Amino acid sequence: PGRGGLYQAGVDPVWVLEARTVRGALRGAPSAWLVQFYSSACGHCAAFAPTWRALAGDVRAWEPAIKIGVLDCGDEHNYETCKEYGIQYYPTFRYFRAFTQQFTTGENQHAGQDRELETFRQTMIDFLQNHSQEAKPPGCPPLEPMQPEKIPYFFQEKVPHYTAIIFENENSYVGREVILDLSQYENIAVKRVLDSNPAFLQKFNITSLPSSYLIYPNGSHGLIHVLKPLRSDFSSYLKSLPGVRRRLSSSPLPSPLRQTREKNVIFKELKDYDKSKLYMADLESGLHYMLRVELATHQTLEGDELKTFKNVVTLLAKLFPGRPSVMKLLETLHMWLVSLPLDRIPYNAVLDLLSNKMRISGLFLTSRVQWVGCQGSKPELRGYPCSFWKLFHALTVQAAVQPKALLNTGFEDNPQGVLRIMQRYIRDFFGCRACAQHFEEMARESMDSVKTSDGAVLWLWEKHNVVNARLAGDLSEDPAFPKVQWPTPDICPTCHQKINGLDAWDKVQVLQFLKDHYGMGNILYTYTQ
Ligand code: FAD
Repeated sequence: PGRGGLYQAGVDPVWVLEARTVRGALRGAPSAWLVQFYSSACGHCAAFAPTWRALAGDVRAWEPAIKIGVLDCGDEHNYETCKEYGIQYYPTFRYFRAFTQQFTTGENQHAGQDRELETFRQTMIDFLQNHSQEAKPPGCPPLEPMQPEKIPYFFQEKVPHYTAIIFENENSYVGREVILDLSQYENIAVKRVLDSNPAFLQKFNITSLPSSYLIYPNGSHGLIHVLKPLRSDFSSYLKSLPGVRRRLSSSPLPSPLRQTREKNVIFKELKDYDKSKLYMADLESGLHYMLRVELATHQTLEGDELKTFKNVVTLLAKLFPGRPSVMKLLETLHMWLVSLPLDRIPYNAVLDLLSNKMRISGLFLTSRVQWVGCQGSKPELRGYPCSFWKLFHALTVQAAVQPKALLNTGFEDNPQGVLRIMQRYIRDFFGCRACAQHFEEMARESMDSVKTSDGAVLWLWEKHNVVNARLAGDLSEDPAFPKVQWPTPDICPTCHQKINGLDAWDKVQVLQFLKDHYGMGNILYTYTQ
């Protein structure tokens, strides 16, 4: 590692193999492997790297069953090894069975041009199921479907954990993916059943496949209500159940690899914090980043960008639930922009105004980034995007609880005002372009339906949950803070209800919860300067 390959050990979620480690890793391994032999010199390998990283992140939870590796055949230290493996073109994707002694003989994946994550995941599952019973990886949970006759057993036996039963068609992989996703979690068992006989499905109120039925530890049961019947939705729902936790991993790994992998990882010790609270340190750090870093990448503001910037500053000056010194700073900036006759401003002038030289007159915004509720277990995780969401939610809540705050701004009668202005900020300035594109799509689809300021609070909550569902298991997910449908029952039990046995949100309660959670009364000032 570190010789300039496309993947970095300890940073990317893949196992970076080399001539000196590949044999030890594959020979007699208790898990199967999927290895990409690539060349760092080949352009399409580089273009493909993000997909491979995404795949590895996506199936990281499957590691006890199957691991994802890479070996750089473009590195001269690996030339001989790649020859031994008979690699002729890049990238070559090769599967290796668990407990293989013939560590060079694997099975190539001939996926043709179809290099979709889904195809890889499905081929991985097929490969795992093709292991003989004796040579199955011990860390691989049973993937075979359960006989429907066994179902009554689960209702009769009182077991101290949840049981999820996924009903699906024969050609569906959702059940197996969810089983693997949850295989390292305790207090839950996931099974799958194939039976599309309508009479049988009717017994469980199932109207579409795949669907999942959940039996709680106390014996109660019902269908799971998810936004979409997708693997990510089922998995994140099940992971968020109270008491369902990731088991501490004890999987034996070949030692040289373990070292290479862990060498560069910086796992930070987490600060003490309360997840039911809102921390001013997150809001102020986010505001600092937004005003002094993100916006500052635009040297001059004019036209639509200038308009968006002015509107955002108006929102912040009126609605940011800040301390007096920060509010004074925002108000000063706001007044300056309102009085400015220019249709083009150099951002340096803004930075000048935001500099803390006015501290003496009581204007001050920290320049120290301090994440608390947004802290990640690694430096590159969470942080700013998390604080941006929190700021955005807090603004919609403030607009709903104190409608007079926007008087004389031109937005007082527009229930979509906060959403529209922030949408434009995301479009014009938010650093993550894919985020902006996704957010635009969601806005286009349904922002028009928002008719009240309470509706705006709920719209943003709902869309944030759509994003959470989409990103569950993604590379950007911090394993210490999995993406779940929020608020989870432990912080808002009344937000969850059952309608005809189905889990559903109680939106009246959710709205109240959001107003409390993102309201002034819930802010803690620990860790602020
Ligand atoms: P975040 O999702 O950032 O949530 C922060 C906090 O908000 C949580 O800790 C929780 O306290 C609270 N929260 C969670 N869900 C809700 C909810 N439904 N309603 C109210 N509060 C909630 N990343 C991508 O990789 N791809 C994308 O397309 C993408 N789109 C994004 C679009 C926007 C507008 C934003 C602001 C961010 C986007 N991101 C995207 C980043 C991603 O959503 C997360 O912000 C980032 O991965 C950090 O995640 P996190 O675990 O800190 O939780």
